[in-house]
Amino acid sequence: MVSMKAIETIAEMKQARRALAGPVGFVPTMGYLHEGHLELVKRAKKENTTAVVSIFVNPIQFGPKEDFQKYPRDIPRDLAMLESVNTDFVFLPQAAEIYPPGFDTWVEIGKVTERLEGAARPGHFRGVATVVAKLFNIVGPARAYFGQKDAQQCVVIKKMVKDLNMPLEVVIVPTVREADGLAMSSRNVYLTPEERRQAAVLYQALTLAQGLYVQGEREASRIRQQMTALIQKQPLARIEYISITDTEILEELAIVKAPALVSLVVRFGTTRLLDNVVLE
Ligand code: AMP
Repeated sequence: MVSMKAIETIAEMKQARRALAGPVGFVPTMGYLHEGHLELVKRAKKENTTAVVSIFVNPIQFGPKEDFQKYPRDIPRDLAMLESVNTDFVFLPQAAEIYPPGFDTWVEIGKVTERLEGAARPGHFRGVATVVAKLFNIVGPARAYFGQKDAQQCVVIKKMVKDLNMPLEVVIVPTVREADGLAMSSRNVYLTPEERRQAAVLYQALTLAQGLYVQGEREASRIRQQMTALIQKQPLARIEYISITDTEILEELAIVKAPALVSLVVRFGTTRLLDNVVLE
């Protein structure tokens, strides 16, 4: 096969797109790739003629006190990983190319961005939706691939595509985990060895919720209580939130009714870890 091509400008990406006949599968990322990202690329490659991956650490989705500056970056490593799964095009724009002087149009999605990550990170989903809409217009995919790891992001992007009649399908890929259950994330590299060991508790708590639900527990508060008690056994863990909502408008449930999204954010030091499971 022809080897992977890296593209830095919008004009060049659009031109490459025009030359492609078959459907394009697109995977937007912020780089510092891991097996989770590669799973999305493999799906994109399997279900489309061409796989395009973008690597762009999007400044407008980070809050002023968040980790934009120190977000991990390693482009040579990312390119080698993408080549290994037969990616066709990698789009790596500069921020000034995506947000030129005078840029002033924003995609704002309603209710589904108000809770959970939207509440914890004001402006985050506006930044995500704006950049994803731009990338969709530049890349012109038939299908775009997102990870269930960021469950609310999946809901937000699906809503945007539906409400704005964007001509593509959103495909959600299951969360890829480490051997001890920790969801793979570029941010896991921030963890000290001891924090990393204790971080396995996120998935243990989510598995506990699943177990309780299967045993017939339907009181959300009792499930949250037991998850809290389990997480608090890890001395370095600080719970930011544990939430049980429906899977469409993400409203908190008092009585659990499937499908329900159990999501949580736990901090270890300054590192924020996010994970979820769906109770079916
Ligand atoms: P990011 O680079 O963190 O913006 O992630 C890019 C895409 O990869 C998003 O759609 C994420 O939801 C997805 N992703 C991140 N981690 C995982 C994982 N562990 N399993 C599956 N998808 C993931």
